[in-house]
Amino acid sequence: MKIDLHSHSTCSDGKESVSTVFAEAKRAGVDVLALTDHDTTHGWAEAQVAAKNEGIGFVPGIEVTTRAHVKNPDGELHKFGVHMLAYLPDPNHEALKYVLEESVLSREKRLQSIVELIAEDYGIEWQDVLDELEDGATFGRPAIADALIKKGKFRYRNEVFAEIWEQSNKYYVPNRGVPDTIDAIQLIRSAGGVPIIAHPLARGKRPPKGAGFPVAHFEEMIAAGLAGFEVDHRDVEEDSREWLRSMAAKHDLIVTGSSDYHGIDGKPNRLGENTTTQEMLQRILEQATGAEALL
Ligand code: AMP
Ligand code: FE
Ligand code: FE
Ligand code: ZN
Repeated sequence: MKIDLHSHSTCSDGKESVSTVFAEAKRAGVDVLALTDHDTTHGWAEAQVAAKNEGIGFVPGIEVTTRAHVKNPDGELHKFGVHMLAYLPDPNHEALKYVLEESVLSREKRLQSIVELIAEDYGIEWQDVLDELEDGATFGRPAIADALIKKGKFRYRNEVFAEIWEQSNKYYVPNRGVPDTIDAIQLIRSAGGVPIIAHPLARGKRPPKGAGFPVAHFEEMIAAGLAGFEVDHRDVEEDSREWLRSMAAKHDLIVTGSSDYHGIDGKPNRLGENTTTQEMLQRILEQATGAEALL
């Protein structure tokens, strides 16, 4: 049984339509796929149909953008983005809908600010970015990357990220209009969903070497209702995985593994490259009261 609980479509920053993602999942031998577009449930209806057509299972999800506010040992407040997977929340829950709509609006404004910063140096305009997005898609930096690729300045999204955002903060604008991580966990639970932190400690989210793992931050999230960790993900380093597994065992939490697929051209991540056990999927289903999986 291949269960992959994290994927994206053109409803956010994936490169393939929902139907194509499910067709590719079938081809990759995936038996159950969660669609988890950034801050939106727009793809769920098409996913239901596509999953039925392909004869595979579908778990509705959202990758919720949040911002953590964590006090360092020296008392300084550290703010950083945390992606929270929400499985099977009620898509009509008013407070959740409101927060997602606010995040989508704020993502758009933030992307415009980033385009203003890079426009002169890289010769692109806002319209070039809009041209890369389907109507109603969640805005994100990959759309800027796609616009630059179209201009012939780069070949792959990761080349753009490496040059523009991973070397300095010059062109980076944080996502400020998104919920606090703890509030988001509580909100997902109140909408009947199951919050699992996406790619924990990945991509620059690790404390500096020698600082130890952020036990207090994780215990705070667990106390707020965090259900588990996406441990097996290509961006999570091996020693982080070990620490996460031991934390999960200690607190009796769910552990998952997923691809975080963004399409054949979006990222190197391949469908089914990491998977979740049937037992862990079962635990997610047992905790969820907001929506139905199609299995
Ligand atoms: P944003 O949502 O605007 O903060 O952009 C972050 C998104 O960009 C993530 O959700 C990933 O899908 C994507 N991303 C991050 N790093 C890379 C990379 N190196 N190559 C391609 N896509 C990336
Ligand atoms: Fe993404
Ligand atoms: Fe993510
Ligand atoms: Zn993702």
